[in-house]
Amino acid sequence: MSLREEVRVERRPMPVQDPRVRVGNFDEVALGYGEEDALLEASRCLLCRKPACIQGCPVEVEIPAFIGHILKREYRQAIAVIKKKNNLPAVCGRVCPQENQCEKYCVRGKKEEPVAIGRLERFVADWELQNGGGGVEKAAPTGRRVAVVGSGPAGLTVAADLARLGHEVTVFEALHTPGGVLVYGIPEFRLPKEVVRQEIDNIRKLGVAIKTNMVVGKTVTVDELLDGGYEAVFIGTGAGLPYFMNIPGENLNGVYSANEFLTRVNLMKAYRFPEFQTPVRVGKKVAVIGAGNVAVDCARTALRLGAEESWILYRRSEKEMPARREEIDRAREEGVRFSLLTAPVRILGDESGWVRAVKCRRFELGEPDESGRRSPVPVPGSDYDMEIDTVVVAIGQGPNPLVPQSTPGLEVNRKGNIVADEATGRTTRDGVFAGGDIVTGAATVIQAMGAGKKAARAIHEYLLSK
Ligand SMILES: Cc1cc2nc3c(=O)[nH]c(=O)nc-3n(C[C@H](O)[C@H](O)[C@H](O)COP(=O)(O)OP(=O)(O)OC[C@H]3O[C@@H](n4cnc5c(N)ncnc54)[C@H](O)[C@@H]3O)c2cc1C
Repeated sequence: MSLREEVRVERRPMPVQDPRVRVGNFDEVALGYGEEDALLEASRCLLCRKPACIQGCPVEVEIPAFIGHILKREYRQAIAVIKKKNNLPAVCGRVCPQENQCEKYCVRGKKEEPVAIGRLERFVADWELQNGGGGVEKAAPTGRRVAVVGSGPAGLTVAADLARLGHEVTVFEALHTPGGVLVYGIPEFRLPKEVVRQEIDNIRKLGVAIKTNMVVGKTVTVDELLDGGYEAVFIGTGAGLPYFMNIPGENLNGVYSANEFLTRVNLMKAYRFPEFQTPVRVGKKVAVIGAGNVAVDCARTALRLGAEESWILYRRSEKEMPARREEIDRAREEGVRFSLLTAPVRILGDESGWVRAVKCRRFELGEPDESGRRSPVPVPGSDYDMEIDTVVVAIGQGPNPLVPQSTPGLEVNRKGNIVADEATGRTTRDGVFAGGDIVTGAATVIQAMGAGKKAARAIHEYLLSK
């Protein structure tokens, strides 16, 4: 047994705002490790010679190397190690599902709790945001131009990696603010927009130009970009098209898609209305349909906007809920209520066309379906009405069709996702690459970034081969 294995420190808990206080504000819930916590947690790392944790990271951050620097209080070196692979560490340290990725493979985790790799990443990334980083290496200019469509984690990763390789990169973003779901979807209380802004500023410092209010497919097409001097185009337009349940009453007043609800609150700052001009109406009893991260974010947001009751309605059981465990627990602490094995079959309105109730049906779990999860089977005669005045539908999002429709020869699958090679992001059009949610369907930040890294390598090789 090595000296390190003898260290017996329990995983350091994340300091958080008191649930009774935080439910009344939009400030960040998780407060981040202080230096003492970070040093103690770092001391739990076995600094394995053959680290399994790296396999679990889609961008292959050299985890033991950066933790080793934390132990020596060499924070500038620690962030330099992370930044070799990850341009958005303060984002990833906050929202990555580490429990299914790096931490799942942590050797320490076989007998006790794994090292809190994500919390340590956040500690170092926040240290950089406060103290300034050491700058990253950049190759000499190549004079080659690349266009990136969409400024979510996939597009930002491609842009940063190609800029470091010396290429001239311009990002075209449809919205007025870059960041994709990081700014319009994930709420302020989980991911402060200032943190995203600072990490994007660091990417701009690499020489990346970001043009906002540019709807590719309308303002300019992919072919026009290729004809206008860009030698390659990367498409990272995400999955922003909300799915609906197609049940009666879904077009009543007071029914939102999760997308609209969260965009109004996050991007347009509806919680600061009338200071900001976009209102959002939330009633006393809110029902959110679905149980992924998006649904949990909506239910927690509704409480912060003043709802007296905020319910998650989900047709499977808690075990099958796709949201992160940590976020489900925090939602419950804040007072979000869960009606499991339940789904709406109709939304009922009042005489003025506003939601007044949801007709729900009870389910039980049957055999596993193609997703491997047990499928919900309706219980006959179990329908009942639940008094509700706001409904948020959070059952998933599909790909935005604008770019595929306006780009001849770009193949899509039956769901509308762009067909692209997994290892390179190459599409069916020469010089056009794609990655992130537009290819995989709604997934995670780090998966989108992993796809961006692979595509950046492939675009670099493509440019050199021309
Ligand atoms: C509410 C919510 C919570 C989430 N929580 C988590 C979490 O905790 N952890 C996690 O890992 N993942 C989470 N996810 C998923 C994660 O955010 C996405 O998987 C990730 O952002 C996908 O990155 P992307 O770059 O492919 O696309 P996006 O982030 O969607 O970015 C796409 C960008 O392209 C732009 N765009 C679209 N069409 C055009 C066009 N025609 N022209 C120009 N620009 C265009 C969009 O405006 C957007 O800015 C969450 C998602 C949501 C919605």
